[in-house]
Amino acid sequence: MTKTQIYKFGGASLKDARAVQNLADILRNRLRNNFVIVVSAMGKTTNHLENILSRKLENLDYSTNSSILKSFHLDICRELFPDGHVIFPKIENYFILLHHELDKPISKDNYDEYYDRIIGYGELLSSRIVMEYLCSQNLLILWQDARELISTDSDFRFAKIDWEKTRRNCQSQLKPKVEQFPVLTQGFIGADSAGRPTTLGREGSDFTAAILAASLDAGSVTIWKDVPGVLNADPKIFSDTTLFAELDYQQAAQMTFYGASVIHPKTIKPLANAGIPLFVKSFLNPDEPGTKIHSLAKVDSVPTIILKKDQILVSLKVTDFTFIEEKHIHQVYEELQKLKLRVNMLQTSAITISIVIDSQLFKLEQLLSQLNKDFEIRYNDGLELLTVLYPEMDYIPRLLGGYEVLLEQSTRNAVQIVRRAK
Ligand code: ASP
Ligand code: MG
Repeated sequence: MTKTQIYKFGGASLKDARAVQNLADILRNRLRNNFVIVVSAMGKTTNHLENILSRKLENLDYSTNSSILKSFHLDICRELFPDGHVIFPKIENYFILLHHELDKPISKDNYDEYYDRIIGYGELLSSRIVMEYLCSQNLLILWQDARELISTDSDFRFAKIDWEKTRRNCQSQLKPKVEQFPVLTQGFIGADSAGRPTTLGREGSDFTAAILAASLDAGSVTIWKDVPGVLNADPKIFSDTTLFAELDYQQAAQMTFYGASVIHPKTIKPLANAGIPLFVKSFLNPDEPGTKIHSLAKVDSVPTIILKKDQILVSLKVTDFTFIEEKHIHQVYEELQKLKLRVNMLQTSAITISIVIDSQLFKLEQLLSQLNKDFEIRYNDGLELLTVLYPEMDYIPRLLGGYEVLLEQSTRNAVQIVRRAK
């Protein structure tokens, strides 16, 4: 029997009606049974929902934002479906449910749980629209609620997978369906043991595809992107990029660790463990081979540039006339872990620890309030973290023209620079 294939389509491949038609075109000749399609929210829907949530938290009116989001989905549907199609009342219904949730009280304390109840509507909407459209194109497909498959703990917004339970769910519920018909489900969302909605972290739909692949012993995963595959730099920022035809799992994982946004960082590990190849392909040129990520004997070290925006550099200086010791670093890491903040770069000197973190709502103030008893803290925000893997000598200066460098660090295989536009 053929092994299951998993396709994942992200927001950019679902940004308008034309994109949904293109998705159907990609599937037309490829769809068969033993196929799972994972979709994320359409276009920038998740950002819009986050906006609505932060307005709600600040007690600001969000009705205009929500109307815009609804019109965005309805406009796409008007281009895809005839008047009176069942999708229209379905979308109305999702927005009624969304508003029902939004009417409930919110505070900083229950924010993460609340967030997970709201934010998944993007995926629910998109998966409904895509399913109805595919069916209207005679591509018969079943809709599956991912929350019935992906079991997680209750760490809202950053939920961790209960692998055993998820595997059981996939084997008992998904497998029998997939053997009969292709199945379409949502990325990013799951549920805890009490059935409460959870999410896997922003951009987590790639991870969902990998989880389902591992749980179904799938044959491959394909992520459809608006780039030709994995490149050695983001083509939206840098000209002159090289496409990797193949990458080793470890090389790919390293790139995602430093912030290459082409694949979600958690995607590689489950696939590498199960030996399932990952293809990254262009939805604009679906017949092009793209990049294949798998176990490779020989790895090429092509200079690779990764840029992370919205970074904050925090400098923590000890105030008690001691020097930096392990316990200080430990203390800082412990606080960061509580806030689920990852250190993108760390540097220590005699009396200062410098860390670079992503900019996230409320997190910096919480961090400062926890650490300002023991450290004198300064920070700079609005920075960029540039990582160059396998750098060549002439590369770095070219990347720094017009920028001020705040911190720099190099190892044998990587140079990291925190920079700010002058
Ligand atoms: N829609 C979610 C997000 O934008 C998940 C994803 O796109 O992978 O974060
Ligand atoms: Mg997305």
